[in-house]
Amino acid sequence: MNLSDLDIDKLTEYITSLGEKKFRAKQIYKWLHVNLATDFSEMTDLSKALREKLSQEAHITTLTPVEIQTSQEDGTKKYLFALDDGNLVESVLMRYKFGVSVCISSQVGCRMGCRFCASTIDGWLRNLTPGEMLGQVEAIQRDIFHGRNIAPRSEEYERERISHVVVMGTGEPLDNYENLLIFLRMLTDANGLNISQRNVTVSTCGIVPRIRELADERLQITLALSLHASNQEKRKALMPISAKYDIIEAVEAMKYYQQTTGRRVTFEYSLISGVNDTPQDARELSGLLHGMNAHVNLIPVNPIRERTFESPSRAAAEAFASLLAKYGINATIRREMGRDIDGACGQLRRRHLK
Ligand code: SAH
Repeated sequence: MNLSDLDIDKLTEYITSLGEKKFRAKQIYKWLHVNLATDFSEMTDLSKALREKLSQEAHITTLTPVEIQTSQEDGTKKYLFALDDGNLVESVLMRYKFGVSVCISSQVGCRMGCRFCASTIDGWLRNLTPGEMLGQVEAIQRDIFHGRNIAPRSEEYERERISHVVVMGTGEPLDNYENLLIFLRMLTDANGLNISQRNVTVSTCGIVPRIRELADERLQITLALSLHASNQEKRKALMPISAKYDIIEAVEAMKYYQQTTGRRVTFEYSLISGVNDTPQDARELSGLLHGMNAHVNLIPVNPIRERTFESPSRAAAEAFASLLAKYGINATIRREMGRDIDGACGQLRRRHLK
């Protein structure tokens, strides 16, 4: 049994099936997700017999860092982790004024085929398990705390604790829906890392039925749609998913998410010079989002080696943002971090695969 994939209810089921009392499950959950234990021998408040039994019958997923790149500009760190089967995934640590944020991957590779994205070039290999998604957050937290004696709940602990998680790395989270939901439950469980739902963002290319299902879960997480175009024709050319669920359906689903959860939604818009950053695009985009409680995140496209897309100048991005503002659309240009490392989705992993 792999304990890293079990939420507290499933863990309790398993532990009681071994003839143990219920509270043992809580202890073990805490060892795994608060103390970030990687081995049963660390779990000193369990009987020796139970520890031995677990080390024979149960498994803990651990992610091994293969490479860590640190940005000299802003301290952003990019991690390449090896999974138990040798597959590689990328995660990123970013430090903001509001807290410590981690960006995680949801799949090994991706099958969505977005034209500007490096993560999808080599296709999709498999879904990540809940434990592998959570494992990225926990491995980074372990790295932050490593070699330092930081008392839980101390001021330093609160400062160094991962407070925000975005599912915006490699993969399409809503294409790995069941595991994503278990992961979200575990990540935000008060018995574990206890990250506030409001500090979690899931980004999707627009798998419409899943957006609606997620809305019906009524979680308090933020949902972001990768929009990247102002009309169906342009979006279809950049994002194959738009052939299946068109831009209008995707925006309607986001409206449903907003209304069902009461959460403001985010639209990500990667600015590509001459492709989607014209005044006409700003006008169409504002028409599309008119009247919605939404925020537009403008991201100057991060050019990847495999494609010819170019990022607009800072002035052009600002002109686009102020046009949106003029039309009453709430938009900001995302601060770029880690530009001096392999920042764009999938680039570090690709280099290793080669
Ligand atoms: N599959 C999900 C999440 C992963 S991608 C999704 O599509 O939303 C995270 C975000 O980065 C998406 O908005 C994606 O479109 C964007 N992205 C991918 N490659 C990029 C690049 N080279 N430059 C800028 N943004 C990029």
